[in-house]
Amino acid sequence: CGIVGYTGKQSVAKQILDALELLEYRGYDSAGMAIVDEINGQVQIRKRAGRVADLEKVWKANPVNGICGIGHTRWATHGGVSDVNAHPHRAGRVTLVHNGIIENYEELKDHFGLADELISDTDSEVVAAVLNRFYTGDPHEALFQTVKCLKGTFALVVIFDDIPDVIFAIRNVSPIVAAYREDGTMLASDVAALGGQATSYMVVPEYHVVELHTDDIRVYNMKNELCEAEFLDIDWDT
Ligand code: GLU
Repeated sequence: CGIVGYTGKQSVAKQILDALELLEYRGYDSAGMAIVDEINGQVQIRKRAGRVADLEKVWKANPVNGICGIGHTRWATHGGVSDVNAHPHRAGRVTLVHNGIIENYEELKDHFGLADELISDTDSEVVAAVLNRFYTGDPHEALFQTVKCLKGTFALVVIFDDIPDVIFAIRNVSPIVAAYREDGTMLASDVAALGGQATSYMVVPEYHVVELHTDDIRVYNMKNELCEAEFLDIDWDT
């Protein structure tokens, strides 16, 4: 139901947990995050059914901090409320969070022969598995191929194992905003979750790939052309 991503100089886990708390008003049943471990560059997942405060406990018991990370609050639509159905989902080199509903996930499961590799009951894990099938080292191409297969609504936010310092996102209907901060960049489902740290933001256009780097946000259309993105200044005092 809510999505966040952050890459920058601050503690990634703290930025994500704070932003997820700002999304609580949307309602949710589970929370999770994936962080690229600064020690070994590997993606680490912490997730569970319950509150963001419960996720924070899981993280504190088994902390990980790093270069960048993504977070999610889930409002279950496909698959019950459980730890395994909580996001992020992983498939091969892909780690993904998803807001929305994939209407043709059963067809995709059959078409790509995914049944044996799925561990959750969500439509979202099917997207992770399809994306992993398409991913041969070109993230844009894999994202374009994947969204062409999807029917439904989605905000997808992804980390690829071999590109651990970049967060990728693409959406249809479900919203994503991307923002610059003094200490890095972030994205979220809505402006409210950006907190007081963002200096400017943009509404991510539908069917465009957004790349979040620590000091740069890049937007590409489906022809893979770099697009001029218009950022709005945020003045939190007004
Ligand atoms: N359809 C997905 C699920 O049930 C995502 C729901 C959401 O937007 O939180 O896991």
